[in-house]
Amino acid sequence: MLVVTSNQDVIVVGSGLAGLACAFELADQGRRVLVLEAGAVAGGRTSNWKQGSEPQSHHFPPRPSPSGMLVESGFHKFLGFYEDLPKLLRRAGIDLDEMLTWEKTMEIRIPDGKTAGEFGIAPVKAPLKTIGGLLGNNDILSYAEKLSLLPFLAAGFKDHAANPEELDRCSVKEYAERHGVHPDALSHLLEPLTGGILFLPPERFSALVFFSLFAPAAAKVLKMQIGGFNGGMRDVMVEPLIEAIRDRGGEVRLNSPVRGLLRDGEAVRGVRLDSGDLRAGHVVVAADLGSAQRLLRPEFGTAPQWQPFFALQTMPHITLQLELTEPLLPEDRTEFGPGTIWGSFTEQSRTTFRHVPGRVSAILTPSDELMALTDEEIFERACLDAVRLGLELRPKVTEYRVIRSRDLFYSVQPGNDRHRPEQRTGVPGLTLAGDYIRQSMYTTMEGAVRSGLLAAEAVIEALQTQA
Ligand SMILES: Cc1cc2nc3c(=O)[nH]c(=O)nc-3n(C[C@H](O)[C@H](O)[C@H](O)COP(=O)(O)OP(=O)(O)OC[C@H]3O[C@@H](n4cnc5c(N)ncnc54)[C@H](O)[C@@H]3O)c2cc1C
Repeated sequence: MLVVTSNQDVIVVGSGLAGLACAFELADQGRRVLVLEAGAVAGGRTSNWKQGSEPQSHHFPPRPSPSGMLVESGFHKFLGFYEDLPKLLRRAGIDLDEMLTWEKTMEIRIPDGKTAGEFGIAPVKAPLKTIGGLLGNNDILSYAEKLSLLPFLAAGFKDHAANPEELDRCSVKEYAERHGVHPDALSHLLEPLTGGILFLPPERFSALVFFSLFAPAAAKVLKMQIGGFNGGMRDVMVEPLIEAIRDRGGEVRLNSPVRGLLRDGEAVRGVRLDSGDLRAGHVVVAADLGSAQRLLRPEFGTAPQWQPFFALQTMPHITLQLELTEPLLPEDRTEFGPGTIWGSFTEQSRTTFRHVPGRVSAILTPSDELMALTDEEIFERACLDAVRLGLELRPKVTEYRVIRSRDLFYSVQPGNDRHRPEQRTGVPGLTLAGDYIRQSMYTTMEGAVRSGLLAAEAVIEALQTQA
């Protein structure tokens, strides 16, 4: 086997936001860093690619697409209270106002002709709509139903701070019932905020994860706003970030799956590639959870201190992406469809994908149950549920793709949170990064970036000790 001693201080495995944030920070601090990405395109879950011509190694094999439909792992929204992600992008020279369109409202559609309601989501930029949305929309939730949420919210934010382990034993549904939440408040509001965001319904969604996701928003409520991307995420965010890493002397290599780790006694001293072995001072594994578990199991599968990491459960995700003859929705903004498989969805033809007359992307829920269906069955169910939401979808569809993954995400089911690892592994030369690492922003772009920055901090400390 060819062994190459690279001139790199650090090898980063994976070019998602966690790996890129880590590489940027290391390169910015003068370290020589090489990012190795298994896929043909960079960006991991924040990528976009032409279906059929640029297969992503970690998603299900795409159906051939003669026209090469442009797809992404699923639509993303940039939340106004994020801190590390916007700071990183600004340092990389990316103009957030150019990259994003800030939305002022979102909509919840109750199926079967019941009703729909608009909610303001930007207290500073659209205060009247925000207050009006909360006080109004009584068709969706009456005053009594809204008030039934208060004891649940008060207890949840308190337990989130004081009893996180206990809160993680409970599902959102159990916790809501325990605190007297009205069934309509559960189905019209808590269901969209669980399945519409992270794929699983309230009965399989940890109350700890739920309150952890919303605690930062509650603490920084005045910063709340939601941004949609002006272009594919790879084009407007990932590629400029890679450019900034290269400007600082770093390197990003695609089509380079890491097959294993090189060990030197206890320590990790490099990686195994198809083309040979590559040595470096330190390795950061910034792969998604499923890939990280597969990569690390042969080395640490029986080590007692690694058992929580291997016990961390994964969950699937499914999105439906459609090209249309005309826009389906009057605005590019976030919508929720509780009681249907349309967990959350958005029109994108005026922002992210402007090259087609109509473009809709949906996060489907519950992802664990829908995984058993074929793409065609999912499309059929989506068309039927769209009608229930008052949307005439089928006659407008020119092309569609179902994009799904089995194990990129750690599961938000109760009892899983305690297994999330720290970025420091205790193994010399090895650090972890990724949205599943223990940090307060959970499985979000902000969480991934935070994990990457924490990993960079740990690596610099380790390299200084080594020197
Ligand atoms: C449908 C969907 C909607 C989302 N919506 C939002 C949202 O609205 N807001 C938000 O903030 N977040 C959202 N997220 C979450 C966000 O995308 C992720 O939390 C974040 O991007 C994860 O980044 P990461 O770097 O940890 O992992 P990833 O992006 O998964 O990157 C891991 C990388 O490692 C590579 N890799 C794996 N194994 C190897 C190997 N052996 N060798 C080399 N490379 C390897 C993979 O190919 C991949 O590129 C959403 C995610 C999805 C899928």
